[in-house]
Amino acid sequence: MSKQVVVVGGGVIGLLTAFNLAAKVGQVVVCDQGEVGRESSWAGGGIVSPLYPWRYSPAVTALAHWSQDFYPQLGERLFASTGLDPEVHTTGLYWLDLDDEAEALAWAKREGRPLSAVDISAAYDAVPVLGPGFKRAIFMAGVANVRNPRLVKSLKAALQALPNVTLREHCQITGFVQESGRVTGVQTEEGVLPADDVVLSAGAWSGDLLRTLGLELPVEPVKGQMILFKCAEDFLPSMVLAKGRYAIPRRDGHVLVGSTLEHAGYDKTPTEEALASLKASAIELLPELEGAEVVGHWAGLRPGSPEGVPYIGRVPGHEGLWLNCGHYRNGLVLAPASCQLFADLLTGAEPIIEPAPYTPEGRLG
Ligand SMILES: Cc1cc2nc3c(=O)[nH]c(=O)nc-3n(C[C@H](O)[C@H](O)[C@H](O)COP(=O)(O)OP(=O)(O)OC[C@H]3O[C@@H](n4cnc5c(N)ncnc54)[C@H](O)[C@@H]3O)c2cc1C
Repeated sequence: MSKQVVVVGGGVIGLLTAFNLAAKVGQVVVCDQGEVGRESSWAGGGIVSPLYPWRYSPAVTALAHWSQDFYPQLGERLFASTGLDPEVHTTGLYWLDLDDEAEALAWAKREGRPLSAVDISAAYDAVPVLGPGFKRAIFMAGVANVRNPRLVKSLKAALQALPNVTLREHCQITGFVQESGRVTGVQTEEGVLPADDVVLSAGAWSGDLLRTLGLELPVEPVKGQMILFKCAEDFLPSMVLAKGRYAIPRRDGHVLVGSTLEHAGYDKTPTEEALASLKASAIELLPELEGAEVVGHWAGLRPGSPEGVPYIGRVPGHEGLWLNCGHYRNGLVLAPASCQLFADLLTGAEPIIEPAPYTPEGRLG
């Protein structure tokens, strides 16, 4: 196809959308109002699983499972082509003292996932630094985390190497250009950028942009704060999660602890209150962190959507306009499947997953 596709927003969703489309369409232009990959996709924890996968709808599960299987090869492919390793780190994940353990185990059986109850003493043997007092544990083998700041960096480098892709950073899109009900381009601060198709993947900002067409997209910013420690490389062998808070080990000994869930508009200021609360959770999970220095503390804006089900597909009544947004707490895990499904829909290929649950039709006000 010799068409030009403009992708609005260069987070993990926009970048991977562009990457998948580049092999199939003539020209791809990615516009980001800042630097690509510096918003939620940089700020997230990078767990390649929803935090409590059994609490989500089959729609989220279908995307998560496809992506989880695909992540290792995505990581290897990007590393081989760019020299930047997204560090897909398979550590498994322990959930401690869950209230809905029975539901979790029933879900795993149904879905064929390697999740099982383990004796709490086995959890302490596997993770000797775990805090005292936990009574029950379940463990899912094979769960990985991806070093998301490196993932977006390597995606950026991969796109820069493609002759038919243009990255336009510091290029804010302020609206859409329409002719007879068809979207034919986007409005930038420097003028109109024409397009055969426009993909809205502007994360938490997507709802604002769609409102310029009089459409209500229920995607809103949900602030999340994280803290970072630097430990010995073998300090934490697995990811651990209790009471909604988790610790994620990177390969080099960095440990991330997150996260808060706040409705604060577009404010991304890290707060003292969140720092104290995240530190307390970190120490409860891993008491040795008590004396450790917090080497990083930041906030990002998740693209919150009802039940975390993303919008993937055409915008009805506006030919040429497409959505790939609203991935809420799971945009990193869901990205590979969402962006492959998106490319299938735009190019008319057989979709990898049944697209109906994600279609914007009937879900916009
Ligand atoms: C603290 C925290 C922890 C998280 N942990 C995890 C996790 O462990 N696992 C997981 O799967 N997910 C996690 N997430 C969620 C995940 O980070 C997001 O779902 C995902 O990054 C969303 O990607 P995106 O590309 O849609 O949005 P973003 O990365 O926010 O990208 C949107 C881009 O659009 C650009 N943009 C916006 N408006 C415009 C405009 N008008 N013109 C041009 N460009 C524009 C922005 O500059 C931005 O770069 C976490 C998020 C947070 C905040």
